[in-house]
Amino acid sequence: MKTLKIAIQKSGRLNEKSVELLKNCGLSFDNYKSSLISPVSNFPLEILFLRDDDIPEYVQDGIADLGIVGENVINETEVDVAYLQMLGFGKCSLKLAIPNNGVITKLEDLNGKAIATSYPVILEKFLADNKITADIRTISGSVEISPGLGLSDAICDLVSTGGTLKSNGLIPFGDVMHSQAVLIGRKGEEENPLIVELMQRVQSVLRAKE
Ligand code: ATP
Ligand code: ZN
Repeated sequence: MKTLKIAIQKSGRLNEKSVELLKNCGLSFDNYKSSLISPVSNFPLEILFLRDDDIPEYVQDGIADLGIVGENVINETEVDVAYLQMLGFGKCSLKLAIPNNGVITKLEDLNGKAIATSYPVILEKFLADNKITADIRTISGSVEISPGLGLSDAICDLVSTGGTLKSNGLIPFGDVMHSQAVLIGRKGEEENPLIVELMQRVQSVLRAKE
């Protein structure tokens, strides 16, 4: 049977939990050091270590059969993949946040304002759904400092504890989406016996954690 490939984050917030989940599934492999691919010695599977942003497209295009990635990245990339299992880690919210200066008090106040984000696709849909017309400024990192620099009036960024917002003088202003890590696969491949076997192992690891 064809060896499967699963894409996980190379380094960052989801890496450790993804590796731990796969190890708890009884899979034996070397963790990422310098090679992009690690073979699993006791299951027909290879682990691909990638930037999280690339994972949804790799799975959609069939370069990887499976992937572990945040729902926020899936929605932002607008791919068509199968959600196989919600994994319960990497929980965070994509939130609007505003400076604590009283200029913006309700959602409509965002009309005509500049909002900095790394999630322009998700934000654009949210604003359209709420009939808000704002200027979306896409920046790739350190979004939370942009109001202080005068680059934006508000931000839309991932938040887990809210500590980063607070230390930048920002207050949360509303949830755009909630997110957690999810195991994704290609649509139509759900019956592949190796995928079924892996899914059973993943589900029993998650059940043991409850
Ligand atoms: P990469 O180098 O792989 O592109 P990254 O910098 O885009 O990494 P990380 O900051 O490692 O990404 O976050 C990976 C994922 O972890 C996010 O996409 C999100 O789903 C989740 N996450 C959980 N909590 C947070 C948080 N407080 N801030 C950002 N992401 C979080
Ligand atoms: Zn990323």
